Amino acid sequence: MTTYDVIVVGGGPAGLMACVGALRQNARVLLVEKGDRLGRKLIISGGGRCNVTNAGEIDDIVKMIPGNGRFMYTAFHQFGNKDIIRLFEGLGVALKEEDHGRMFPVTDKATTVAETLIRHLRDRGVEIMLNTGVAGLLLESGEVCGIRLHGGGERRAPSVVVAVGGMSVPKTGSTGDGYAWARQAGHTITPLFATEVPITLDAPWVQDKSLQGLSLREVPLTLTNAKGKKLTTQLGDMIFTHFGVSGPAALRLGHYVSVGLARGEAPLTLAIDFRPDVPDAFADILAMFEANPKKTAFNVLKGYVPERALSLLLGLAGILPEVTYAHLPKAKLQAFAQLIKKFGAPVTGTLSIEEAFVTGGGVNLKEIDPKTMASKVAPGLYFAGEILDVHAHTGGYNITIAFSSGHVAGSWAAKRAKALAAEALAVEQGAGGHDQGEGQ
Ligand SMILES: Cc1cc2nc3c(=O)[nH]c(=O)nc-3n(C[C@H](O)[C@H](O)[C@H](O)COP(=O)(O)OP(=O)(O)OC[C@H]3O[C@@H](n4cnc5c(N)ncnc54)[C@H](O)[C@@H]3O)c2cc1C
Repeated sequence: MTTYDVIVVGGGPAGLMACVGALRQNARVLLVEKGDRLGRKLIISGGGRCNVTNAGEIDDIVKMIPGNGRFMYTAFHQFGNKDIIRLFEGLGVALKEEDHGRMFPVTDKATTVAETLIRHLRDRGVEIMLNTGVAGLLLESGEVCGIRLHGGGERRAPSVVVAVGGMSVPKTGSTGDGYAWARQAGHTITPLFATEVPITLDAPWVQDKSLQGLSLREVPLTLTNAKGKKLTTQLGDMIFTHFGVSGPAALRLGHYVSVGLARGEAPLTLAIDFRPDVPDAFADILAMFEANPKKTAFNVLKGYVPERALSLLLGLAGILPEVTYAHLPKAKLQAFAQLIKKFGAPVTGTLSIEEAFVTGGGVNLKEIDPKTMASKVAPGLYFAGEILDVHAHTGGYNITIAFSSGHVAGSWAAKRAKALAAEALAVEQGAGGHDQGEGQ
């Protein structure tokens, strides 16, 4: 049977980069993937363009990782966003920077990133087994020494990197298989939850779908708890859906909804500011009516917010669209201005963990060495990527975590294998030398 230094389980960004890390230590690597292709989630990320990393400074990147970002510092210093950029450009994938530091391939095709990485692994001799589900870890006296395959069979190596992702979007292969293996090896799993996830709301305008499909650019979304305390404000694009809100800012807020609900802070309320550029909407609107006393409310306010929102907000404030300034009580204008700045709705929750972009929670970081991604519980075992209790906002940060932790895990897994091999050789040579000595 072929012997390997490192077995990597899972062909997502963490697993692929674990192979690169191991290769750089001249390791013999086996990559095992249960799907019929590698990088299935990677190629749908970033809207199919693959948001390969973020160009920001490490401190700024850590700030965008609400789930235990500080754990990643040591890994980022070994293989960070700049190293990711250098690696891809070295492999011939030209990258470009877009808004908020997001890095994409110039081709705008995620397949460019995935295929280049896969070709690199094949060229460098990584053995790749597709359509091969791993059933569990092989453990001997508490040490990991290989993997068991579904349908029988096993593969052995002194180091195993588990990079099987979380349990979001299971059709990509991320079905949470690794948590049971981690437990089997003696690890604990922190509670799993949906993060980077659309938010469900309970409001008549959600039920009657009056705003469905309407998108807003660069608006602040604020989440408050039962006591009216602000939990967070997230600025960005959003879209109204048939269940609530989605889009980048809403997805980020989804993290705080999951955490707020888990902490018993319900009921939570979402407030949208339609006009962040206008500090005092009431004064602004009053001035518009004073300048146009003969025009109808609808005509005065046309363009102030998108038309579908305007009709709804006027109705909620009790203002008839055809009314003119002379017949408009100030209290109603005040109510309208309030709705513009704080368009609120009770939050009922989020979509499921399977529908989330990212899984929060995972392998307990207290049991992982941040320098090597090695298990502190079971020698020979390494974790990388979303299976760990680290999760970030979208914007290239999760993929950066996966690439960085993967590279670190792969390279230290290889170093361990090489050190063990060198130790075994020294013992063998020592024994051989001794025999020779005796023979003389
Ligand atoms: C639609 C979408 C868009 C996204 N966009 C972004 C974005 O723009 N920016 C960002 O930072 N993040 C984004 N993410 C998140 C990011 O893609 C993930 O965090 C990242 O892919 C996690 O990498 P991973 O290697 O840890 O796991 P995964 O990518 O989930 O890969 C795990 C691999 O392990 C394999 N596997 C599972 N079980 C087994 C088993 N038993 N045996 C063998 N193999 C197994 C799976 O088939 C899979 O190939 C997005 C996610 C989604 C769903």
